Amino acid sequence: MTTQVQVAQPGVTSRLVEQADASLMYIVTRPPRVFVRGKGSYLWDADGRRYLDFIQGWAVNCLGHCPPAVVRALNRQGKLLLNGSPALYNEPMIELAALLTEHSALDKVFFANSGAEANEGALKLARKYGAARLDGAYEVITTWNSFHGRTLAMMSASGKKNWETLFEPKVPGFIKVPFNDLEAARKAITHKTCAIMVEPVQGEGGVFVAEDAYLRGLRELCDEHGLLLILDEIQTGIGRTGSLFAYEQYGIEPDVMTLGKGLGGGFPVAALLAKDAACVFEAGDQGGTFCGQPLAMAAAKAVLDEMTRRNLPRRARTRGNHLRRRLRELGKEFGFTEIRGKGLLMAADLPQEKGAEIVAKTTDRGLLINAPRPATLRFMPALTVSNAEIDEMADILRGVLKEAL
Ligand code: PLP
Repeated sequence: MTTQVQVAQPGVTSRLVEQADASLMYIVTRPPRVFVRGKGSYLWDADGRRYLDFIQGWAVNCLGHCPPAVVRALNRQGKLLLNGSPALYNEPMIELAALLTEHSALDKVFFANSGAEANEGALKLARKYGAARLDGAYEVITTWNSFHGRTLAMMSASGKKNWETLFEPKVPGFIKVPFNDLEAARKAITHKTCAIMVEPVQGEGGVFVAEDAYLRGLRELCDEHGLLLILDEIQTGIGRTGSLFAYEQYGIEPDVMTLGKGLGGGFPVAALLAKDAACVFEAGDQGGTFCGQPLAMAAAKAVLDEMTRRNLPRRARTRGNHLRRRLRELGKEFGFTEIRGKGLLMAADLPQEKGAEIVAKTTDRGLLINAPRPATLRFMPALTVSNAEIDEMADILRGVLKEAL
């Protein structure tokens, strides 16, 4: 593997970062580096430095950077039909919908552009279902520490404590209960409830895994009360946790499921899937200019083909076991207080609140990881990651931990 871009331009970064600060709206402090190229588990910046990427676009690039199958599909589709219309059928749209329904327990698909948009669709579907079938019920039970996106309604649905006072007034109709607390969910159900919405693993919240009995219990509660169970699989879906969809590991089926992130392997696309009984939209209720856009459909179809052809969910399980082993070794040496996760969505809790410092230091040494909480590190490499790359990550991290802790 080469460590240099073909034409490295040392020094170009500072000029680009200056330009960026002058014209990009501030939303986050980015490291002062500009990324120009990616391949598999690696990224290169404008100065020709290589980085081992264990963030992968926030658990998006499930096949790694620039996967040839997706690039080929985009090229092919770009020459055939770049954009049709949301109100016209196109071929990859039909093929992808068929693939998703064939491989999941859901019957119908609506395509969106982002996870938040797919979740908005799920909530609209639930409210319509409540209006039509549950005597006007409209409330949705969600959980504390959850993350469902950044539209106003999804910020209202999410359980991030520091969002509670942001952008008031919020969209009403969300009742929040503690995660993994079945009793709390049971007590929150009233005649106004139409659905319960959870993530099988709270990814952005710090990688907290739903217990088996909890998800199964929520399924039973929904059945008992005629409510919709909505699973937000935007981060957990498409193989990340070791099965194509995380719900498969719980022996239950959701009524509604949302996908995003890994679905397009780096191309922006999301999906809302539902059982036939929950498909209550009428013409005009839902849509969007780029819904079912042919390029996005072709990219996602290539991802699903690769997922199934190469059995990448199984690979996420075996590579996930190796990652867990390496994290356990580091944990023993540096006193991690917990290691948790499923497949290739893993986190480690540090003995001190030094997540941000450690992330900055690993970046300096050519490793990208993420700290979703002050004392938590998160690892979400490509599902195609090798054991050698996991070892390389652990070695770099070890060097930084020695210095920081
Ligand atoms: N739901 C979950 C579980 C997520 O992890 C995310 C993004 O991190 C979202 C929804 C929002 O997706 P998007 O950023 O594509 O809108």
